[in-house]
Amino acid sequence: MDAETFRRFGHEVVDWVANYLQEVEHYPVLSPVSPGEVREQLPSSPPPVGETMEAILGDFQDIILPGITHWNHPRFFAYFPANNSGPSILAELLSAGLGVNAMLWQTSPAATELEELVMDWLRQMLNLPSSFRGVIQDTASTATLCALLCARERLSGFQINAHGFSAWSEQGPLRVYASREAHSSVEKGLKIAGFGAGNLVLVSVDENYGMDPQDLEKRIQEDREQGFNPCCVTATVGTTSSTALDPLRPIGEIAQRHGVWFHVDAALAGSAAILPEKRWILDGIELADSLVFNPHKWLFTNFDCSAFFCRHPEVLTATFSILPEYLKTDIDRQVTNFRDWGIQLGRRFRALKLWFVLRYYGVEGLQEMLREHLALAQEFKEWIEESRDFELLAPVPLNTICFRFQPGMRSGQDLPSEELERLNKALLDEVNRSGRIYMTHTRLGDNFCLRLSIGQTQTRREHVVQAWESLQGSQTVQSMH
Ligand SMILES: *Cc1c(COP(=O)(O)O)cnc(C)c1O
Repeated sequence: MDAETFRRFGHEVVDWVANYLQEVEHYPVLSPVSPGEVREQLPSSPPPVGETMEAILGDFQDIILPGITHWNHPRFFAYFPANNSGPSILAELLSAGLGVNAMLWQTSPAATELEELVMDWLRQMLNLPSSFRGVIQDTASTATLCALLCARERLSGFQINAHGFSAWSEQGPLRVYASREAHSSVEKGLKIAGFGAGNLVLVSVDENYGMDPQDLEKRIQEDREQGFNPCCVTATVGTTSSTALDPLRPIGEIAQRHGVWFHVDAALAGSAAILPEKRWILDGIELADSLVFNPHKWLFTNFDCSAFFCRHPEVLTATFSILPEYLKTDIDRQVTNFRDWGIQLGRRFRALKLWFVLRYYGVEGLQEMLREHLALAQEFKEWIEESRDFELLAPVPLNTICFRFQPGMRSGQDLPSEELERLNKALLDEVNRSGRIYMTHTRLGDNFCLRLSIGQTQTRREHVVQAWESLQGSQTVQSMH
């Protein structure tokens, strides 16, 4: 593609994105296509000869776009947000233009040095001790896997890296502890890192769905007595179901007492800790060995960008470093080579978008946007509390509300739980099919819950009001009156 053609279509594409972000509200949030519908419209074999950009962009518009669920939509309330922003998109474009691979310092010194810098800026924003060193990973799942691998290697004296689990087998299995509400990436990490999913010990939670430290201590002790090797505790700050908060300080003290690695998964909630009034959610973080949070969830940096901090970079690099001849450089001793800080060798230049976002909004600008989401969540929570048809199913410390339609409240007669589940599934399906809003569900204890998570860049009060109106005005709710 020559420069002139690139320029022409580049302008067209930038215009397209600008219009899209301006008009995204008019699309159905959840893509209405049926399984196979996108694929059926596309040829089953690759084009033997090149096609025009007009044809490619035309199919993007006509075939791909209808199959898109609009994460940038201001009425996207599903899962957790993966929010986005102009400065982030522009930096991604520049990063794609540069096309560099940030595997070594030498393969783009600016990419490595900027990554060190922005991770230190984030460290300051979260008020983490200066002993935490940061690296950008693709996702929280990868960061948690890295933490598990570090825990495994520190405990085995790097013997499992060297000789495999069989060399360690006489010592008894390694155990990992996380609450019942922890994210599935912990279990996945145990599988991949060779611990075995059966060595994940699920710790009880309290009535607010945070980890019960007493139960943690009891389980570690029992495991010790039975010849298991306690290796790692993962605490969650902001669980995926309900943003429940595990108490870091008591968990960290137990971890220290038993010499186990303490990893903190704050994938969503870490962003909130840049607010002085919410920093308490990380109280005790100085006891952690590692921490992950996702700027790609709730810090206006488009997917993917996950911030991983580790207090023992020497353990991290001892776990991951490799040095074949062809990767050696003369300045290896003076610089950081991020290939040794994680799983991948090749690495995208993700620091650029984080740098653009942090500079464009500034810390205060980011704080203001998060405060607005938090205030909207409190307001929605109050509507639920005041409603005669809906009930709250968990506390709302952050941006996510767990609740359900409970038509029995009017008559003072609770419906049986199977009936409630059927009704709430019908309600969720109805509002999502309308294309006006998109929400997802979870289960807390035995309860099927609807879940509304507020965090998209363009979400304003009117959109949250519209979500509440969609629920109240639904057939499912109206037919019970
Ligand atoms: C979203 C989430 C994850 C997984 O994040 P990815 O970056 O998609 O891997 C892990 N833990 C928690 C608590 C999450 O909310």
